[in-house]
Amino acid sequence: MKSVKSPSQNGAGNSAKSKKAAAKSDVATGLRDLFEDSLKDIYWAEKALTKAIPKMMKKATSEELVAALTEHLEVTKTQVARVEEVFALLGVKAQAKKCPAMEGLVKEGEEIMESTEEGVVRDAGIIAASQKIEHYEIATYGTLCAFAKILNESDVAELLLETLNEEKQADDKLSEVAEASINIEAANEDLEEEEEETTPAPKARKK
Ligand code: FE
Ligand code: FE
Ligand code: FE
Ligand code: ZN
Repeated sequence: MKSVKSPSQNGAGNSAKSKKAAAKSDVATGLRDLFEDSLKDIYWAEKALTKAIPKMMKKATSEELVAALTEHLEVTKTQVARVEEVFALLGVKAQAKKCPAMEGLVKEGEEIMESTEEGVVRDAGIIAASQKIEHYEIATYGTLCAFAKILNESDVAELLLETLNEEKQADDKLSEVAEASINIEAANEDLEEEEEETTPAPKARKK
């Protein structure tokens, strides 16, 4: 048995009210712990993405897709710094905790890249994998933002909202790229052009 006095032992009567207050602070503490854990999780995830996105860039063919990934890599680096800013505001040491979900999403992306032919199909796979990643981030930052508001951390909530909006923009951009470049007709035209070329070694077209 713990020797710590429960709040209800501190005074006569009012025990129901004290119990309620204790439960309330338990929830506040629990939510704050959950919030900080989730921050450590997304901190790990963002850092993992600074390594995963360049791999996708190397495997992508469409210039639009490479440009979108290149831009989001830069954004992601600033997001890592922004999470560090959040830790600083909270007075919590910036610490990464492995995010099994992001690890899995990145792995799934790698599997897709391995199992597809370079070009339009692999690009479609990269976009699909990237959008799953963005959706995970959107869900995470949406929750973090809501938690920050509940915990009365308005400056933190504002920073998290900035990142949330960037993730939504990245998702929209990927949808645009998919519409513009994942197209069977265009792919077939490219193929016909390749066949019409009389020069040998068509592989030389590859950048
Ligand atoms: Fe991100
Ligand atoms: Fe996670
Ligand atoms: Fe899956
Ligand atoms: Zn992202």
